[in-house]
Amino acid sequence: MENLPIFMNLKDRPALVVGGGTVAARKAELLLLAGASVTVIAPRVRNEMRRMIDTGRVVWREQVFGPGLVRGFRIVIAATDNEAVNRLVFEECERHAIPVNVADQPELCSFILPSIVERGPLTLALSTGGRSPILARLLKARLEALIPAGFGHLTELLGRYRGAVKRRFAVQEARRHFWERMLDGPLVQLATSGRIAQAERLIEEALEAGQPAALGEVWLIGAGPGDADLLTLKALRLLQQADVVVHDRLVPEAIVNLARREAERIDVGKCMNRHTLPQEEINRLLVDLAKQGKRVARLKGGDPFIFGRGGEEMEAVIEAGIPCLAVPGITAAAGCAAAAGMPLTHRDHAQSVRFVTGHTKKDDMGLDWRALVAEGQTLVFYMGLANVERICERLMAHGMRPDMPAAIVERGTLPDQRVFEGTLASLPEVARRTEPRSPSLIVVGEVVRLRERLGFVESTSASAADLSLFAA
Ligand code: SAH
Repeated sequence: MENLPIFMNLKDRPALVVGGGTVAARKAELLLLAGASVTVIAPRVRNEMRRMIDTGRVVWREQVFGPGLVRGFRIVIAATDNEAVNRLVFEECERHAIPVNVADQPELCSFILPSIVERGPLTLALSTGGRSPILARLLKARLEALIPAGFGHLTELLGRYRGAVKRRFAVQEARRHFWERMLDGPLVQLATSGRIAQAERLIEEALEAGQPAALGEVWLIGAGPGDADLLTLKALRLLQQADVVVHDRLVPEAIVNLARREAERIDVGKCMNRHTLPQEEINRLLVDLAKQGKRVARLKGGDPFIFGRGGEEMEAVIEAGIPCLAVPGITAAAGCAAAAGMPLTHRDHAQSVRFVTGHTKKDDMGLDWRALVAEGQTLVFYMGLANVERICERLMAHGMRPDMPAAIVERGTLPDQRVFEGTLASLPEVARRTEPRSPSLIVVGEVVRLRERLGFVESTSASAADLSLFAA
């Protein structure tokens, strides 16, 4: 090992920065973060350092660095552009056995400053031994993405219960087991997503019982509109931790396949001779799997709480006493808007947007049509494909202009996405001609017209034209 990594306690301890420039100010900032009392030695200081002095965060000794000045400090960092001064700082520190770092001069360092990933009290330090700061930075970026921000909460929480667990389990081995099993369960997701009260309850129940319950958990994960690149980092992370993935038809294979290879997959959109599993049975399945101690990823198209019956599933899971988390996904409207060039709101054209279910057998579809025809809004109908005609007809009957732009987006965000444009008056005919398949969204509003200005029309209208040729 080239260097011994250590974490140094600098709380209220004297630290010295030599230099008054930008780099020196950054080093002073770092020492302050660690709680040190920082002194700066420099004949002149620049803006950032000047502000730190003026606000009393650091003490300034306005002088040129010289022998004898490092005495009493626990740590010294030099960042001047004067070689001779830098060398003198290093030699002085070595003579007094004080840890010293000279910025950008590895040969004048008795310690190096690592790249840092910080999550509250949890700190990761990364070093390439001065070989390649860029590589360290690259790895740091990856770790930043990999370690959820909530790990700080988790670490705090574990720290708070350390004493209680120690008192409860006298033998060290028992304590280790307790924590290992605890950290293998729902505690991690609860704490990292900020549900601290629930996480605390879990620990307290386990302490009382003498061991963590063998409880699984359910994650309602939004898989987005289809393009796997539109998954959230959290969705991906949980998919890779799940023991079983329960998904429906809307979720493309490419996304289901992002789960761990060993994870069991259950397609509830195809069970029982290609019929969808009834909702109550899906609820029961989720509960049963979690009761077996499994981590269940319930993967749902778009966002779980937008026309996804995610609310019902969560209710059933929580009622069964099983921890449940929801991970939002990009809903079809947002995905299609981006992929088809229709901003859902626009200062000039739409001051609000409504997500409406188009799936109903009732004559008036149970919708408040008068509210839907109001000016300045975009309407997005989910599950409305079978009702295109009725939707357009009802909107016109309640006063919407027949030439109001409207579009159908088929398989939005996917490579074979198609967009069919028309007006309220023409859309039913467009649909008859082009026969869009499910899943498709219907978008009604002035914003449909923006597609052209945003450069989205050429290719898509060409594909619609191709189809009409094909139909003719
Ligand atoms: N929870 C989902 C919606 C489920 S309802 C979400 O937030 O997106 C199913 C309906 O969503 C489909 O009938 C269709 O109207 C719409 N939909 C889902 N994915 C779509 C896609 N890629 N392109 C167009 N519409 C889509």
